[in-house]
Amino acid sequence: LEYIEQSLPGILANPLVINKNALTNLQNATFLVLCRNQDVYELLETIQSVQDRFNHRYGYDWTFLNDKPFSVDFVNTIVDYIPRGRLNFGQIPPEQWSYPDWVNQTFAAEQRESMANENVLYALSESYRFMCRYYLGFFYRHELVAKYQYYWRLEPGIKLYCDINYDVFQFMKLNNKKYGFTMTIFEYSKTIPSLWFHFKQFIKENIDYNPPLLEFVQNDDTLTSYNECHFWSNFEIADLSIFDNDQYNHFFNYLDQTGGFFYERWGDAPIHSLAILLFLTPNDLWWFGDIGYYHAPYLQCPQLAQLRLQNKCSCNPNEDFTDSFLSCTRHILDIINSY
Ligand code: GDP
Ligand code: MN
Repeated sequence: LEYIEQSLPGILANPLVINKNALTNLQNATFLVLCRNQDVYELLETIQSVQDRFNHRYGYDWTFLNDKPFSVDFVNTIVDYIPRGRLNFGQIPPEQWSYPDWVNQTFAAEQRESMANENVLYALSESYRFMCRYYLGFFYRHELVAKYQYYWRLEPGIKLYCDINYDVFQFMKLNNKKYGFTMTIFEYSKTIPSLWFHFKQFIKENIDYNPPLLEFVQNDDTLTSYNECHFWSNFEIADLSIFDNDQYNHFFNYLDQTGGFFYERWGDAPIHSLAILLFLTPNDLWWFGDIGYYHAPYLQCPQLAQLRLQNKCSCNPNEDFTDSFLSCTRHILDIINSY
């Protein structure tokens, strides 16, 4: 293929941008996938789902990021599955996928061991921690991402179960929405023991208003409780301006300085959610309840039979996560609807 022959044999240009014929009337938006070369076949499942259920009508761009260089095989495997739009392949700068100099790596290693003893998921993984920190502090500044207004975060191996017969990015724009989500879930406490303490400290030092969404993570209106509820961030349709500003950067840097990403195992999802609760209002949020979406091990499947038929959904509504005891979606919808 022409664009690959332009690079040295076996080595791709970084960034590599492949332009296919674009449509007009699109929003300035991209799908965003962080993944490894070996994820390519799971990624094909995602691409197939998203192209068939949504993007074949629009041709929105795809952006792929990796901490390592993408391989020629990776690009060759997916490139012809996406017939329209721009395909961006980028490598993450190494300094954004490593330890900041204030982190004590010996202590971090001891902490990983003790989390492993408590059976914390990904307890021993350093790359998982780099990944979470990247999705909090850096993804929106990547040169391939920063030029867009909206992104739809996707992961390898997810599945869409219903047709999406409208332009979700245009929907975000027309309705002034900034953050779209599907499932919500409670966090595993052992991954974030000190997060709430540091968050409260940040509020005390920096926030002089009463954020209306804080109720989302609380069972009462004192700052004493934290229910660990968050948007499950493997799915996000959002406006990059949420993150690309001084206020958010200050918030990220504040938490990053504590070393909590490495001494504990802070996930990007609970912290994304805390930022959203601080900096957005209920009107900025949108629950994509009409999107059938699976990320192992949970499924969102629309409850209305008529909607499932209309959108050719192939999921089982009895397996829908929304009303599971592990989900907090009803709680956030109550807050949004009563605002
Ligand atoms: P989980 O959903 O919390 O179990 O985490 P995942 O394993 O799905 O990782 C979240 C996202 O980060 C996915 O898009 C992965 O493909 C990606 N990811 C995770 N670890 C790495 C890594 O070490 N390198 C790269 N390039 N991507 C990663
Ligand atoms: Mn995942």
